Amino acid sequence: MGSIERIKNVALRVAKWHKAGYQIVVVPSAMSGETNRLLELVHAISPQPDPRELDMVAATGEQVSVGLLAIALKELGLDARSYTGWQVPIKTDNTHTKARIVEIDGARVQQDLAAGRVVVIAGFQGVDNEHNITTLGRGGTDTSAVAVAAALNADECLIYTDVDGVYTTDPRVVEEARRLERITFEEMLEMASLGSKVLQIRSVEFAGKYQVKTRVLSSLTDPLMPLEEEMHSGTLITFEEDKTMEQAVISGIAFQRNEGRIVVVGVPDTPGIAYQILGPIAAANIDVDMIIQNQSVAGKTDFTFTVGRNDYARAMDILNQHIKGQVSAQQVLGDPKVSKVSVVGVGMRSHVGIASKMFRTLSEEGINIQMISTSEIKISVLIDEKYMELAVRALHKAFELEQGRST
Ligand code: ASP
Ligand code: MG
Repeated sequence: MGSIERIKNVALRVAKWHKAGYQIVVVPSAMSGETNRLLELVHAISPQPDPRELDMVAATGEQVSVGLLAIALKELGLDARSYTGWQVPIKTDNTHTKARIVEIDGARVQQDLAAGRVVVIAGFQGVDNEHNITTLGRGGTDTSAVAVAAALNADECLIYTDVDGVYTTDPRVVEEARRLERITFEEMLEMASLGSKVLQIRSVEFAGKYQVKTRVLSSLTDPLMPLEEEMHSGTLITFEEDKTMEQAVISGIAFQRNEGRIVVVGVPDTPGIAYQILGPIAAANIDVDMIIQNQSVAGKTDFTFTVGRNDYARAMDILNQHIKGQVSAQQVLGDPKVSKVSVVGVGMRSHVGIASKMFRTLSEEGINIQMISTSEIKISVLIDEKYMELAVRALHKAFELEQGRST
């Protein structure tokens, strides 16, 4: 919601659904740019703000949104009621700035719905068991929405966003990228965790865990467009591979531009080494992504892993200060400018040759692969950041994603 005009549009859209007989709970995010503005205020005072107080500030953006939206709904003659996260309550753990939802009490919301009200719940926020306000991490409103949908047993969770669905890859990188009408939950999870920014990854985990039918669609369309058309637009996240349709082998190319690679060279190949290296990294709340331990030579091995670029300096510090001496590593090397590119598709389970096609495509472009990791439905490679866009374009083409069917 970028402006008052946009808020009024959201209200018109909600009123349209309500009039058609649906019970509606709306979970708005802050007005666009607002969360950034709030975080800037915080950081203008302190480079390392207390996370509890940071959440106190950051959560206010959504409080403004729910109030304004409820007022806009009332202007249209609907009965509406807004709630903050703690009023519902949306209970979370106490990990400030990245809290996880543990429980939602839907009783009060259900009462409102039964009374014919539209309920507006602040996204991105919750409350821990000591009544501290928490936030769910950037983009957390997606997760709030899916979690609320799960708690209320909703028919569908519609996520209106600034793109009109999930694409084969980021259209800013590949112009020919194509919108997918449906994607399986597992593919979506891979795409989200591999850098596709459409939904916050936790929202997809929630959707999978609680089987919430979730649709990603555009918030930029005419709010009064026919309901029939709107409810079939965007991309539906499904739970079963659609056996009746010919399934594309590859659904998309995901990428994570901002990764850093760290190599701990010459550590003894003994039990507990991986734990000694990664334990302190995990304790510092740094997410580790790809991990490789080499074949050991003369009792020594190299241990390589990747982290998000934002965490790279901190991870290097931890290694140099605490771990290096303890595990008697010869040296710690790193490259903060690497990117990960992945091909994703459930069809990989039943088709061979996807990896070789991927590696051939990269080799034809002269791109060196630094690390490889795979799962049942994805293959990821780590490459120099310089070649990321080239790699994504070449792979999108090689797998014929612009044509609607991959081979
Ligand atoms: N307002 C929060 C953010 O900017 C949550 C969200 O937009 O989903 O990250
Ligand atoms: Mg968002």
